[in-house]
Amino acid sequence: MAASSPSSRTSVRRELLLPLGILFFAGFLLALVALALVLPLLNSPGQVAGYMAVILAADLTVLFLYGRRLVDRILLRPLDRIMAGAERVAAGEYEHRIPREDSDEMGRLVESVNRMAERLVEDRKRLAENVRSLDEANRELVETTDQLVRTARLASVGTMASGIAHEVGNPLGALMGYLDVAESRARSGRPEGAAEACGHARSEAQRIDRIVRSLLAFTRPGSEDGSGSDGIRVEEVVQRVLDLSEAQGLTGSLRVQWECQEDLPPVGGEPQHLEQVLVNLLVNARDALADREDGTVRLSAWSRPWRGRLEPRRRADDPSDADYTHRRRGESLRKGDRLARVGRVVCVQVEDDGPGIPEDLLPALFDPFVTSKEPGEGMGLGLAISARMVQELGGRIEGENRPEGGARFLLVLPAADGGSEDGRDPAQSETVSGEGR
Ligand code: ADP
Repeated sequence: MAASSPSSRTSVRRELLLPLGILFFAGFLLALVALALVLPLLNSPGQVAGYMAVILAADLTVLFLYGRRLVDRILLRPLDRIMAGAERVAAGEYEHRIPREDSDEMGRLVESVNRMAERLVEDRKRLAENVRSLDEANRELVETTDQLVRTARLASVGTMASGIAHEVGNPLGALMGYLDVAESRARSGRPEGAAEACGHARSEAQRIDRIVRSLLAFTRPGSEDGSGSDGIRVEEVVQRVLDLSEAQGLTGSLRVQWECQEDLPPVGGEPQHLEQVLVNLLVNARDALADREDGTVRLSAWSRPWRGRLEPRRRADDPSDADYTHRRRGESLRKGDRLARVGRVVCVQVEDDGPGIPEDLLPALFDPFVTSKEPGEGMGLGLAISARMVQELGGRIEGENRPEGGARFLLVLPAADGGSEDGRDPAQSETVSGEGR
């Protein structure tokens, strides 16, 4: 069909209604003239009625035949073409454009459909660009987080190393003092007290040995007992962290209680990750209890069968007068989650009797840079890094305030061997559910 400029376009109304009107009017006039000519020749009203019926039928037939052709040409065929074009666009041929139509109304309809198709193409392009830039932003975010985690780990190892060097200095000084005493006693021929000084020197040397071992275990991948390859012995890691913290004065005046179920199964992953999480949680507890003389931190560990469910818990942002926990039973873990494939977990809990976590931090507690501390005192990375480390261990971390006061952090770690001794095939585990952090 030839394209036409808007000015040369015809109007459906004019093209359709005008001819029909003229036709109707002409038929009417013709009937009147014929009636006037023939009327004197007709003898009865019946003949008049019959004659008028014939004229009316002839008029209507002409009107119908001509009107149908007109409607078909002006309305139906253009509509068919427009519909076919619109269907191609709807079927995904977004570049298809419907050819112009002659009439004004149809032309406007075609232009609208074509404009819609163009907008669709533009929107799809914009959407694709947005998705690309979101992908890019996401990639950068992941890279930055990885970098932050690496930097923070290095920084924490550095801080710890310098702290330990400081800690080693004291027993080393004492050790040398005791050795001097023992030597001078031996030289002066007065052996009494030399053995005692040697005993003290030995215990100082043992203290140094303990500190150095802790540092080695903290910084080196895997550990001497092979737990890096066969699984982490949680009780050994906790003990090591406690020794290290005590040696370094990390826990200050805190009272630390430690309870552990016997025969804990090992958990999978690198022990340094668990060490770092525990150190972070202990440091936070110490900071929270800084103003208290008698602050207590309780660490406990136990194992339990895992049916792929964390007990539904209240969330920090739940309204205080509503209980939605029953509605969270159906929440699913992600497919690749190791927790979705094991039959036993080890839980490690760190709780304190401090002031508790500020309520406004709870909803985003594990996000980076969420902190209640003054600039320079805390960067808000400890828990974010901890969450990341726990993720590396295949587990989950949750933080909440205890009803009786203080904070509680719970780690749920998958057993290294899958813990399917209860007869459940981990690979066949049904849909699992639990709360994310
Ligand atoms: P930072 O310690 O540098 O602030 P974290 O990510 O380790 O960063 O902790 C974030 C915030 O969570 C802390 O600033 C503190 O307000 C809160 N928090 C963490 N652990 C505890 C705790 N045991 N008791 C009270 N508040 C805590």
